[in-house]
Amino acid sequence: MSHVPDLLPLDVLRTTFGYDDFRGEQGAIIDHVAGGGDAIVLMPTGGGKSLCYQIPAMVRPGVGVVISPLIALMHDQVTALENVGVRAGFLNSSQNYDLQRLTEQQATAGELDLLYLAPERLDLARTQEFLDRLTLSVFAIDEAHCVSQWGHDFRPEYLKLSVLGQRWPDVPRIALTATATPSTRREIAERLGLQQARTFVASFDRPNISYRIEPKQQPLKQLLTLIRSEHDGDSGIVYCLSRKSVEATAESLVKQGIDALPYHAGLPAGVRSANQSRFLREDGVVMVATIAFGMGIDKPDVRFVAHLDLPRSIEGYYQETGRAGRDGLPATAWMAYGLADVVQQRQMIDRSEGDAAHKRQLGQHLEAMLGLCETLRCRRQLMLDYFGEPSEPCGNCDTCLNPPTPWDGTVAAQKLLSTVVRLKRERNQRFGAGQLIDILHGRRTTRVEQWRHDQLSTFGIGTELTDLQWRAVIRQLLAAGVLAVSPDGHHTLEITDASWPVLRGERPVPLREDAVVRAGSTRKRTASAATKGPAAATELSAEDRELFERLRTWRAETARAAAVPAYVVFPDATLAAIAQHRPANADELFAISGVGAKKLDSYGDAVLAVVIGRDGDRLITTPTPG
Ligand code: ADP
Ligand code: ZN
Repeated sequence: MSHVPDLLPLDVLRTTFGYDDFRGEQGAIIDHVAGGGDAIVLMPTGGGKSLCYQIPAMVRPGVGVVISPLIALMHDQVTALENVGVRAGFLNSSQNYDLQRLTEQQATAGELDLLYLAPERLDLARTQEFLDRLTLSVFAIDEAHCVSQWGHDFRPEYLKLSVLGQRWPDVPRIALTATATPSTRREIAERLGLQQARTFVASFDRPNISYRIEPKQQPLKQLLTLIRSEHDGDSGIVYCLSRKSVEATAESLVKQGIDALPYHAGLPAGVRSANQSRFLREDGVVMVATIAFGMGIDKPDVRFVAHLDLPRSIEGYYQETGRAGRDGLPATAWMAYGLADVVQQRQMIDRSEGDAAHKRQLGQHLEAMLGLCETLRCRRQLMLDYFGEPSEPCGNCDTCLNPPTPWDGTVAAQKLLSTVVRLKRERNQRFGAGQLIDILHGRRTTRVEQWRHDQLSTFGIGTELTDLQWRAVIRQLLAAGVLAVSPDGHHTLEITDASWPVLRGERPVPLREDAVVRAGSTRKRTASAATKGPAAATELSAEDRELFERLRTWRAETARAAAVPAYVVFPDATLAAIAQHRPANADELFAISGVGAKKLDSYGDAVLAVVIGRDGDRLITTPTPG
């Protein structure tokens, strides 16, 4: 160790942040960086990456510089730190000159522990000279996967960050990301000059998130059922592929009385930031968004993430769903997925720019994603497998809780494929799913008669399956690569090399039976999710729940008065613990996880008053049991 800190990391954790113990590898990472070492940290969203650089910055002399691409969120990040008594500031293009000067002066005078910077600033000679004048404790490179050119969040400015190691070789650097793939990890090490850094890989399991994928039938109705039956009044994110569907979905939800807002890159900047701010600050807002929304959103109490369209890759799906339940309390990752999604994504790949290798890569990503949708295995286990992490079936995903019925789809697949083959061979035609199903069912529709498809030998040989079941068969054959969407842009289907062994009876086709989705069907929160996370608000007794709600009302008022997000005052998990343990004095309150010295000072009296029930007129308006 090149430096023996005056403050011990564990003391800072307990006194400043109010937590009892480090989670997972946090302690080891912090020791390593506080001792002057470089680190690459891969930890899932909600894993607790922030403390890994915040605490080293506090125990080492000087100011820690945090490089973050999320200008819109810097203000909230700094406010959250100030709220626990950490001296923090930020410099970005949203500030006026005077404010920037003031922050620079504070940093130079040694009055800051942490300084957040946008990456593009580091390219400026002025910024570099300013940093030269400071004592620097650590460089933290947040969202480090932004250096990856093939990744989903590439930022060219990140490539310039190699300057950090060159210009300030004695300052330890820590790069952090929630992207788990080995190739991203390699790119981070190479491009940031961190080949010698110690790499810490946390488990990517998020046991509190329950994963569910349903066949898409009436997506909006299915979404409403999810919200009404399980997430009434909760914060959530709904992802859609297009801007148009974002707006239409948000509008429909609002009509149904749900507090929903749209977010996509086509909205004016002012609307986007106002919507983001409402989502962060208020309880129970549902954000309907394209994937333009979400990176760095550290709202801990997002209770559900819903996908109305198929994500492009497992990495993307994992990142997006990972925004649920950062506080460790039960959360839902739900998706509705159908045949049209597969067709649409295949066409997007065919039409995308880029060379054959790039298209092949996109195709592989899609295939892995489809594999996750159609699997008979535990969904979590399959995802962790994909990230190279061995695990057991989880007991908290739909395939574990409600194992799908496997059935032998070989004959059905043969009927369908031979129809496709006959159309092609006998008439040089290609058709989409609808016409194929009509043929198999033996329906004499106008289009069937027009094309004289009733003459085909496969006409009417598939009456044993319903339309929905046939669509499920086609979807699964597409996912398995036994059938393909032709690149003609007309949603038509064609056979592949893999179709022949099926037609010849050499390859069996195991399929899963779709769960029947009934509007109004509810699913109880699972026991295992409850035991793995901290006490969820929903598991409080009626009496504790009542106190929890009063604490939330107090929190909303307090947050509004201070113009900060509610979770900056206290996260739900802390309020639930307070409601359960009912601290009678400051000492007992301090013992609760999430209550540090500064917050005890700022809010202790007010919270105790709410607990004891002496919070003035609220007692009159809220009937208390007993
Ligand atoms: P990440 O940046 O990895 O997504 P955060 O740093 O935002 O995660 O942490 C997620 C949540 O977990 C935050 O609410 C944070 O306060 C909490 N947290 C982090 N470390 C601990 C710990 N050791 N004990 C209890 N809570 C923690
Ligand atoms: Zn499972």
